[in-house]
Amino acid sequence: MARYETRYDCLVVGGGPAGLSAAIYLGRFHLSVLVLDSGRSRAALIPKTRNLPGFPEGIAGTKLLNRMRRQAEAYGARIEDREVLAISSMPGGFTAETAAADFAANTILLATGVTNRRPPGMSDDLHDNALARGALRYCPVCDGFEITDKAVAIIGTGERGLNEAEFLRSYTSAVTLIAPDGAHDLDPASKARAAQSGIRLRRGPSLKFALLNNEIEITLPEGRVRFASVYPALGSETHSHLAAAIGAVVSNEGFLEVDTHQRTSVPGFYAAGDVVLGLNQISHAMGEAAVAATAIRNDLSQKSPRWR
Ligand SMILES: Cc1cc2nc3c(=O)[nH]c(=O)nc-3n(C[C@H](O)[C@H](O)[C@H](O)COP(=O)(O)OP(=O)(O)OC[C@H]3O[C@@H](n4cnc5c(N)ncnc54)[C@H](O)[C@@H]3O)c2cc1C
Repeated sequence: MARYETRYDCLVVGGGPAGLSAAIYLGRFHLSVLVLDSGRSRAALIPKTRNLPGFPEGIAGTKLLNRMRRQAEAYGARIEDREVLAISSMPGGFTAETAAADFAANTILLATGVTNRRPPGMSDDLHDNALARGALRYCPVCDGFEITDKAVAIIGTGERGLNEAEFLRSYTSAVTLIAPDGAHDLDPASKARAAQSGIRLRRGPSLKFALLNNEIEITLPEGRVRFASVYPALGSETHSHLAAAIGAVVSNEGFLEVDTHQRTSVPGFYAAGDVVLGLNQISHAMGEAAVAATAIRNDLSQKSPRWR
């Protein structure tokens, strides 16, 4: 028996920059919207973002999220701190199951993001402390500027690790690529690429991490090395399983496939933000959410006009 009271125009799963941007747009389209969020936005980990246009002094991720929440609620969005456990299709819409209640909606926007893989052997305390001080970073596009001319390490290998090291090389000449386990698995051509761009290769694993002032010291099998910042390049988990379970097409890398209006392969089911392959940036998440919300509005209007 159904346990839901209201059927929303749109249920947004995820309350990060993508989900909250969509909620602002949907509310302003006079649509009823519910946001369910499990409270683990990657944006909440940002001590201060400095590349978001319109914030010349930068803004902390948590502050940005709070402001976006307030803005969405001001236009009628309901936001609840709940994790969606499963989504099912029903005629003309969907239901979402949480621990305490079910919710129903005509459309769903999945904005569940990704979670970065953490460096093995780093305690949670040290991780959070290093992140807050800029000694640990996850996003060269976001904050490579902040390590200009400083010593930086990337924990990773293969094409992903080397690409990230090469990207950071345009900020600093002191770039070290540390293999997570033992020797690097780079082929001779990749090793030559690293040598050519002056990237130093070191064997892992990282046996110990320590914070010294605002720098990070890594103990490797060959000894201790100190860096201004370390970037893990170990990939991420993409939270697309709720959509995959109802048949939405997901790429081999786990990202949701969408059309130019952010529609997945399941009618009425949309996706935006990091859960879709893209730049993994706040501005990109916001842009995709605006496109998705407008498509949702237009697709719902096609079915039944929303005259005032
Ligand atoms: C350390 C760090 C620094 C960064 N710095 C910058 C920067 O300076 N500039 C920039 O543009 N970008 C930066 N980024 C990237 C930026 O944070 C992301 O691109 C952005 O947060 C993506 O937004 P999103 O809404 O797609 O996903 P997220 O912000 O990750 O939000 C996803 C939300 O969905 C929720 N969720 C997941 N599954 C469920 C479920 N089953 N039920 C309910 N809720 C669920 C999560 O709890 C989370 O709140 C940084 C990232 C990190 C980690």
